[in-house]
Amino acid sequence: IVRFDKVVKSFGSAQVLRGVSFSVERGQVVALIGRSGSGKTTALRCINGLETVQDGELHVCGREMHRNNVDLHALRKEVGIVFQSYNLFPHMTVLQNVTLGPRKVKAMARAQADELGMRMLEKVGLGERAGYYPEQLSGGQQQRAAIARSLAMEPELMLFDEVTSALDPELTGEVLKVIAGLAADGMTMVLVTHEMEFARSVADRIVFMHQGVVWETGGRDLLDNATTPELQQFVGNGL
Ligand code: ATP
Repeated sequence: IVRFDKVVKSFGSAQVLRGVSFSVERGQVVALIGRSGSGKTTALRCINGLETVQDGELHVCGREMHRNNVDLHALRKEVGIVFQSYNLFPHMTVLQNVTLGPRKVKAMARAQADELGMRMLEKVGLGERAGYYPEQLSGGQQQRAAIARSLAMEPELMLFDEVTSALDPELTGEVLKVIAGLAADGMTMVLVTHEMEFARSVADRIVFMHQGVVWETGGRDLLDNATTPELQQFVGNGL
């Protein structure tokens, strides 16, 4: 569903992705790990066209992202992204936030959107909070609402960019549990994460990025069987 083939991306003179290659199969959970600045977030943002690819090829849901005629509007109906900051609209209830996409982008009727929104809120354990405003929720609940909002678009692929980094440790678990539930449902996901235990438990594939390339990749046992000194050190530091 995603294939990076020697993808290159620079910001000015800084080459951030220096020939990144990896792929994601339908139904897989792929964790992108690596030191700060290794290019994980940039790689993730290329997947839904928030960054453009300068060289190499990137195929996402049958589209050629390296060409400049990609229909980003159509792509983003199929690829959901959840950021560290949840960006919920403060003047709308949780349910209104969640149903906005289906209603505006998919022109779904209100009753149908509400039914879908409630199903998604129940999936993330927020069925009881549908009528609350974002400020009445904890950070963990807001992040779960943001996940429900993405799910309401019924994407084929979900991207998560360090979604627990802004949360207190006691709220991290509830969000990771929701993501683990999506994995169990068979959702295809790519996650940038610093939660190594989480990567070890839910990822089908772990991609270790270092200095703008995929340095080492493997199954969820990769962290226990690191072959490069760079990954060994990364795992050893618990970062
Ligand atoms: P982190 O874990 O800190 O998010 P990362 O591995 O996700 O790190 P990226 O966010 O992809 O790394 O950033 C890689 C490099 O690209 C960094 O040095 C960063 O400063 C640079 N960079 C990212 N976005 C931009 C931008 N829009 N303009 C200029 N430089 C950028």
